[in-house]
Amino acid sequence: MVSQESKRRVPAMCWGVLSVAICMMVAVPISRAGSLSFSTVVVDAGHGGADGGSVWNGLIEKKLCLDVALRLERILKAKGLRVVMTRRTDATMELSDRAKIANKWRNAVFVSIHFNANRNRSVSGLQTFYRSSRGRMLASPVQRAMDRDLTGINRGIAIANFKVLRETIMPAILIEAGFISNRTEASRCGSATHRQKIAQAIASGILAARTHP
Ligand SMILES: [Zn+2]
Repeated sequence: MVSQESKRRVPAMCWGVLSVAICMMVAVPISRAGSLSFSTVVVDAGHGGADGGSVWNGLIEKKLCLDVALRLERILKAKGLRVVMTRRTDATMELSDRAKIANKWRNAVFVSIHFNANRNRSVSGLQTFYRSSRGRMLASPVQRAMDRDLTGINRGIAIANFKVLRETIMPAILIEAGFISNRTEASRCGSATHRQKIAQAIASGILAARTHP
């Protein structure tokens, strides 16, 4: 009888241990869903040098991108993150070189900053692009923070096959921080106060995406 009981108990206990193990395996990724673990942020100021990007309403996209990128660098460094800049000056840079700089870093995310333009000057708003599911985990909180903290239409997040998103091996996003072809939005983007708010909103979204230790 004892031996029979012990025979029954053994598989029951094994199943118990196994089910706990399965629960843990399932529970850990679920509890961490929506957050990323990283210590470095690669900040990519769009365009630069010979590539001015969009030019509208007296604004040159490359200058706005660099300005917001430098502001973002300061904020993130103050929060204790390592920040790697793909450019800190008005330099011409290939898209693949930007990805190469980023791919040297482990535990990193990639954030490319751009401003948008459209021939239809009534189009405006803020949008964040991603390509991978982990990119989406960064895009969502960044877009949410911009929508919460900035004036402008929320154009949401969207998948895009941009080269910098395709060639970077880490979670990567590309932010379009406003349409400079739209007169109202251009006037906002031309203000240093608004650009500081953009950088703060992006930083807040990046920090929200991060796993808290
Ligand atoms: Zn651009």
